[in-house]
Amino acid sequence: MTQTKKLVVLGSINADHVLAVPHFVKPGETLAGNGYHIAYGGKGANQAVAAARLGTQTDFIACIGDDTLGTAMKNAFAQDGINTDSIVTIPNEMSGIAMIQVAASGENSIVLAAGANAYLDQTVVDKFADNIAQADALLMQLETPLSGITAAAKIAKANGTQVILNPAPAQSLPDELLAQLDMITPNETEAEILTGIRVTDQDSAQQAANVFHQKGIATVLITLGAKGVFVSEKSGFNRIIAGFRVQAVDTTAAGDTFNGALLTALLEQKSLVQAIRFAHGAAALSVTRHGAQPSIPTREQTDSFLL
Ligand code: ATP
Repeated sequence: MTQTKKLVVLGSINADHVLAVPHFVKPGETLAGNGYHIAYGGKGANQAVAAARLGTQTDFIACIGDDTLGTAMKNAFAQDGINTDSIVTIPNEMSGIAMIQVAASGENSIVLAAGANAYLDQTVVDKFADNIAQADALLMQLETPLSGITAAAKIAKANGTQVILNPAPAQSLPDELLAQLDMITPNETEAEILTGIRVTDQDSAQQAANVFHQKGIATVLITLGAKGVFVSEKSGFNRIIAGFRVQAVDTTAAGDTFNGALLTALLEQKSLVQAIRFAHGAAALSVTRHGAQPSIPTREQTDSFLL
C-alpha cells in the first residue's frame, strides 16, 4: 500500500563494518576476529528504509561517496522503494562508515567516519528546497551538519511541512532550530542531555517534555526502550503508551524503525495514539532480528503482528 502523502527524510548513510571479537582490541594488540560482514545503516537511511518498507512515499536527502559501497547502498534504497534522486554523490570522498567490534559479552565498540555525510550542509539542502516544500512531513536526525538540518527545518516550516526531529546522537541544539520543530522524539538519554532533566518516571518525563514545549515544540515523544513511550502534547494530553513484549535479540535501529513507522502512520491520518501503537509494533519486530536495515519489517509483517 503506497499512500499519496509524501515524506522527506534528511540524514546519514553509513556502511557498518561488523566484526565479532573475543574482547575489544587493546592498544598495540593484533586480534583475530570472525564473522565479518557489512550491514547498511546510518540513522537517516534506517528511518527512510523503515518508512518506505511500511508504504510511505519517501524522498531521501543524503550524501554518499563516489565509491562502490555508496552505489550499492543507493541501489538498495531504490529497491526498498525510496526516491533516491536527492542522494548526492560527493566526488573524491568516501561514504560514511562505522567500524563495529562486537565482543563476546555482547557489548559494542564503534568508530565512525562521517565521510560524505559531512557534506550535507545548507548548500546541498537548498538544491532540494522544492522537495521539502512540497512534502507533508520532514524527518531528521543529528548525524549530519546542523547547518543543513536547520536550513531544511526553516524551508519546511515556511511551507507548512511538518518538522520532526529525532535528536540522535544528542548534542545541544540552537533555539533557532528548536523553534521550527512540530515534534521531537528523543530517547531517555537524549532527553536528559537536551533538557538537563533525568528521565526516571512519568513526572520527570513530563518535566523534560515541558522544557521542549517551552521552546515551542507542540508534541514530545520520549522513547523508553522496552517500556514504550511517554507522549506529551502542549495542549495538555500526556501518558505512557506501553510497547509490545517480545524476545529482543538486537535493539539496533529500534528507534529508527519507531520513527519511520510513526511518520508512516501519521501520514495515513492515524491518531497520535494509534500511530504510536503502529510504531511500537514495527519497532518490536525489529528488535527480534539482528542488524540495522536487515531488521526493519515490511508493512505486511507489521500488519500481521498487530492483528
Ligand atoms: P536504538 O538506539 O536502540 O535504535 P533508541 O534508544 O533510539 O533505540 P528506544 O527508546 O530504545 O530508542 O526504543 C524505541 C522504541 O523501540 C520503543 O519505544 C519501543 O517501541 C521499541 N523497543 C525498544 N526496545 C524494545 C524491546 N526490548 N522490546 C520491545 N520493543 C522495544
